Amino acid sequence: MGDRSLDEFGQSGEDAEPTTEPSEPTPVASDSTSGERSQGTVEPATGTARWSGDGEVCGACGDRVSRLWFEDGQMVCSSCKGW
Ligand SMILES: [Zn+2]
Repeated sequence: MGDRSLDEFGQSGEDAEPTTEPSEPTPVASDSTSGERSQGTVEPATGTARWSGDGEVCGACGDRVSRLWFEDGQMVCSSCKGW
């Protein structure tokens, strides 16, 4: 026997040449620094006081102050806060 169909060599049906597409540069996230930032009131780090640029009314005396302290469940001005 020994009669086997040989696979044809050199099948040059399609040239396997690498695609020469220019690799597109990956888009750079330029706005990485635009994180969410609380606008307006900037709370101090203490947590017991609150700063308000527009002013807030004291819960005790009614004065309109720009800085209030948390005292006995309400926000009071510096004069009313029991230092
Ligand atoms: Zn007050």
